[in-house]
Amino acid sequence: MNSMRVAQVTEPGGPFEIVERELPEPGPGHVRIAVEASGVCHSDAGFVHNAFPHLTFPLVAGHEVAGRIDALGEGVRYWTVGDRVEVGWFGGHCGHCPPCREGHFIDCRNLRVPGWAYEGGYATHMVAPVNALARIPDTLDAVDAAPLGCAGVTTYNAFKKSSARPGDLVAVIGVGGLGHLAVQYAAKFGFETVAVARGEDKRALAMELGAHHYIDSSAGDPAEELQALGGATAVLATAANSKAMAAGVDGLRPGGELIVIGIDPEPLPITPAQLILSSRSVVGHPSGTSRDIEHTMEFSALAGIRPMTETVPLEEVNEAFARMMSGAARFRMVLVP
Ligand SMILES: [Zn+2]
Ligand SMILES: [Zn+2]
Repeated sequence: MNSMRVAQVTEPGGPFEIVERELPEPGPGHVRIAVEASGVCHSDAGFVHNAFPHLTFPLVAGHEVAGRIDALGEGVRYWTVGDRVEVGWFGGHCGHCPPCREGHFIDCRNLRVPGWAYEGGYATHMVAPVNALARIPDTLDAVDAAPLGCAGVTTYNAFKKSSARPGDLVAVIGVGGLGHLAVQYAAKFGFETVAVARGEDKRALAMELGAHHYIDSSAGDPAEELQALGGATAVLATAANSKAMAAGVDGLRPGGELIVIGIDPEPLPITPAQLILSSRSVVGHPSGTSRDIEHTMEFSALAGIRPMTETVPLEEVNEAFARMMSGAARFRMVLVP
């Protein structure tokens, strides 16, 4: 077969259309991947709607991609045809900018994100640079692996790099595409885990995922309830709502940190005094490198953590995308070619 199918968006905001293309040959230092599963992330909407700089159309989104290497470009070592690989938000670093030279590849000034810097995984095949590849453990299937390349690594790494230690109280604001994974990681890391969401709908699920406490944010003040539990060392704010995320600050114990991973164009309503008087901090957290994605997948396989997914054929990408945008997905839509 010398052709592939991609779900492309021809103009900003426009619908996805399935088109046939010639199968691309990987260039030097790149591999071609036969895609087996591709997660639909809320950030993809930013690409489809042309909200990021330097996008070109037609555009092929998809940065939660699991598949197998099916062709090697010139000079590729350590990877072979048939290897199971994941490509996530981290689609490769340049290796020569100051953050790269300091070893902070995720902060690369030329970070390449699939669907932005090059065509992503809403397709039967894609081409990626080798520094973007993460090896998928044998015990993790492609549909479960795919969302770990963005939603998984972002939540796993946020807690792993936080100051929280086993036994500490942590909270997760929002139980959705990111939050349902964050609760599982927090519990398996040995944290006393609090899930915070609006309403009672998600209480049973949050407890099933491993939460020790559930706070309905519409029924009272979640910060007060966190303080009643002793105050959180870390609050992971996954809700795409600045007001809901900022509400976590007053639930922090002295020295605690609010880790922001939900995206909302509105500013976070936080006053200096809220931070100063208890030595609190607010930090942004960007995801993780291809090696971090490997750690995320290995830990998930080890600890029995899986994303909750709804799989949809690639041809039904418009329906899958709409379902993700409406918030109805439980919890990650995954396209299967
Ligand atoms: Zn993403
Ligand atoms: Zn760089």
